[in-house]
Amino acid sequence: MVDSALPATMLLLLQPMSNRADELANLIVLGSGGPIPNADRFGTSHVVTSGGRNFLFDCGPATTYKLAKHGLSSLDFDHLFISHHHFDHVADLPAFLLTRWDHSIGDETPLKIFGPENTEVMIERLVGEQGAFAFDWKARINHPLSQQMHQLRGGALPRPKPEFDVSDVSTGVILEGDGFRVTSQRIEHVEPQLQANAYRLDTDDISIVFTGDARPCDHIIDLASDADVLVSMCGNFQSELERKGVQSGQIGSLSAAEMAAEAGVGQLVMVHMGPDISSASGRVRALEEMSSIFQGEIIVSDELSSYDLRRRDVSANQNIDNSMHAHICRDM
Ligand SMILES: [Zn+2]
Repeated sequence: MVDSALPATMLLLLQPMSNRADELANLIVLGSGGPIPNADRFGTSHVVTSGGRNFLFDCGPATTYKLAKHGLSSLDFDHLFISHHHFDHVADLPAFLLTRWDHSIGDETPLKIFGPENTEVMIERLVGEQGAFAFDWKARINHPLSQQMHQLRGGALPRPKPEFDVSDVSTGVILEGDGFRVTSQRIEHVEPQLQANAYRLDTDDISIVFTGDARPCDHIIDLASDADVLVSMCGNFQSELERKGVQSGQIGSLSAAEMAAEAGVGQLVMVHMGPDISSASGRVRALEEMSSIFQGEIIVSDELSSYDLRRRDVSANQNIDNSMHAHICRDM
């Protein structure tokens, strides 16, 4: 495993204390917004650090730059999980993949990429032999200046072309490694135009589920059953989504809380938020209405912030009356 391109001493200087590899699992929220940028949020991207490994979930706008702000680079990741192909979740793929390739000197672990249907096609169309960025990487392979830069970094000639281990996945265990397992669950967001996946990561430290963009449903609850943390889309207040008639295919404040309660997680991290919930008064209102449903810790996340992840308190499980949860689709 390639855990970092930086010396350990540099990592200690650059990373928040809670992000050190020898501490408990940590979540870095790089992107906590949707497709409409504002001053505080744009797009989706999350890092889980556990057991000295970094896992990247989605690769929304400026992910590579935001990683650098946390002292991380694309070479610090061996695994990328894509929820779906809306641009707010994948727009930075070219930068992420090409910086990883460009700075590689040939002794790194190949990057494994998992995503829903057409992920293999998308990656090929971006960085494949005839991809949009083939002009770039072919120039870097063949121009003497680029060759010299590659050699100065410790690489040898001829430069290899970019290659990634890409898999289209749906439902099931998609990856098992030394001390970790990843499970995918196909969910509904904007089908049939795009398929979408939720993911669960189980490590020795933590079990964490990412809903991606989804309609609230039993499949997500089942995937998150007895996990420690649920990282959930929270597009807006439920009342606002319903007032506009756009609650289908999206998770709102109440449905996020209902899913967290039914799954029995300990922490609910709200992401993919719009400006209504992000405002100071919106945060207070969201916490008030959600805490009446979910008794665990609720985090209204901020971009470029890291959060300590904790094992759920199994003794705190409540008796949940599911009949009170009116915002979850039961028909899947
Ligand atoms: Zn989105």
